[in-house]
Amino acid sequence: MKYLVLLVVLAVVIGIWRSGRGAGPGARREDTKPRAPGAPQAMATCHHCGVHFPRSEALMLGDQAYCCAEHRRQHSV
Ligand SMILES: [Zn+2]
Repeated sequence: MKYLVLLVVLAVVIGIWRSGRGAGPGARREDTKPRAPGAPQAMATCHHCGVHFPRSEALMLGDQAYCCAEHRRQHSV
């Protein structure tokens, strides 16, 4: 019976320790990402500044992708 109490106390202590670590600053940042890690996502490169960004956010001009309307505009003139 003594060991059972000790086991329960140990389980509670470990539970508190784990939840305390999980709530620490920066510890959960990786978990709260909106996109699942490892999920394949097509990337595009801005033809103007070379920045990489999701293809779904690309602004197209012909075959070239741009990160923003301003960069696309500078190549459309
Ligand atoms: Zn750009």
